[in-house]
Amino acid sequence: MSATSSGGGRGAPGGRASSAPLLGRDSEPTLFELSHPGRSAYSFRTTGVPPVPLDELVPETHRRSEAVRIPELSERDLTGHFTRLSHRQFSVDLGAYPLGSCTMKYNPKVCDAIAALPGLAGAHPAAPASLVQGWLALLIQLEEALCIITGMAGATLQPAAGAAGELTGLLLMRAWHESRGQTRGTVIIPDSAHGTNPASVTLGGYRVVTVPSDERGCVDLAALRAVLDEDVAGIMLTNPNTLGLFEEDIEAIAGAVHEVGGLLYYDGANLNAILGVVRPGDMGFDIVHMNLHKTFATPHGGGGPGAGPVAVAEHLVPFLPGPRATRSRTDTDGPDLVWQTPERSIGRVHSWHGNALVLARALGYILVNGGDGLHRVAETAVLNANWLRHRLREHYEVPFDRPCMHEVVVSARRLRQEHGVRALDVAKRLLEEGFHAPTVYFPLIVDEALMIEPTETESPETLEALADALNRIAEEAASATSEPLGHYPLSTPVRRVDEARAARTLIPTADARR
Ligand SMILES: *Cc1c(COP(=O)(O)O)cnc(C)c1O
Repeated sequence: MSATSSGGGRGAPGGRASSAPLLGRDSEPTLFELSHPGRSAYSFRTTGVPPVPLDELVPETHRRSEAVRIPELSERDLTGHFTRLSHRQFSVDLGAYPLGSCTMKYNPKVCDAIAALPGLAGAHPAAPASLVQGWLALLIQLEEALCIITGMAGATLQPAAGAAGELTGLLLMRAWHESRGQTRGTVIIPDSAHGTNPASVTLGGYRVVTVPSDERGCVDLAALRAVLDEDVAGIMLTNPNTLGLFEEDIEAIAGAVHEVGGLLYYDGANLNAILGVVRPGDMGFDIVHMNLHKTFATPHGGGGPGAGPVAVAEHLVPFLPGPRATRSRTDTDGPDLVWQTPERSIGRVHSWHGNALVLARALGYILVNGGDGLHRVAETAVLNANWLRHRLREHYEVPFDRPCMHEVVVSARRLRQEHGVRALDVAKRLLEEGFHAPTVYFPLIVDEALMIEPTETESPETLEALADALNRIAEEAASATSEPLGHYPLSTPVRRVDEARAARTLIPTADARR
């Protein structure tokens, strides 16, 4: 999630936001612009193997008529190019990244080292099970660990991200109902849900029924009971919800949904809040996705790769996607660990075995932390968010001001009413202080929302600096002598972008690059 609104504030100096360039005016030259014929960043050893004539390799009809244009650069120029680009970014390795709902924690480097082990990174996905027993052991161990953490019976590791896990979960829901001879039409989601939830419901062929939140920011139980009937295939919830609040009525919710024969789907994006403390399985959920790139530490935010395993209760295991690495041998002579597709599988949801190196990182993270460590992750994440809640009360409204979980949602409504300063302006101003912006305008049920997730990896000093910066920005909003907040950021390579145009014009035009 990020800003969903463009422009605003007291007017950017460059005029209307829609005329702002997509890339900075001083953008880096491309690799093509840096290219010089004859330079290269590689060299091949001579092998003594005689060259094969091109005619024998590729028939004339399949050959290009012109040479392909590939940038030609020395290793030194190439390294310089990417290093310069990396300096134009803000990353979790650089500082606090409190982008709510995304769990942008620091990712320990040991997990990268594990994923880079040649035996893991170098294995071919099509290698027969007998040649990659170590990989299968790793996948089985990860599946078991995720089932212990969530209180589930079996899992698929294939889905590529949370959203892919959601669709997988809904297809599992459908398969289960159909196996009982039932066709159901609707899936319930609360009005605080992440946008991927209703999108997945629609993609899964169901109709969305929305239930409102009550004055405590939780699912309104009476409103939920009013929409429950035999057409309900299930409900999708995240707990803690997107307000960072724990659904205290979860057992009553689970009871009511199960009573009409529906299933409970757990959106595990907020799993960081409850690791080793409480399990979705114990709350009554039947299906759980996990965002390994969030909770279990894979760098993310640039578009992937991620992993969104889906774990399920016993009654749904026969429907899981396959093949799954498994210990049960199908023949006596074969290897100990084999690939097996469950009996009534819904089929594949990813090529090969999913984004395998993200899976390796996640197992590394789980083993390095251990059970106690994961418990401490959740405790510290919750403590950090509550500490910020107390510090930010001074200048921001906290719409549901009671103990939160791993993130806190505050509102800049008062700043907007009194000073015309929006949540977006606060977020853009914060970039100037060396922090990434929080998520803004989400969840939708909070006006001028700033959703702040500090995660467990930030130190007390960093939290102090973040709270000071946010409070100082609120004071600036009220001050006539400060730079207007709508002018920020001032020093980033790209200042304010036109978000609507950025989303619609995916290929930067020559005009946009000016
Ligand atoms: C991130 C997130 C998702 C989607 O997960 P992806 O891995 O980005 O596909 C779903 N729900 C919530 C609450 C999230 O924060």
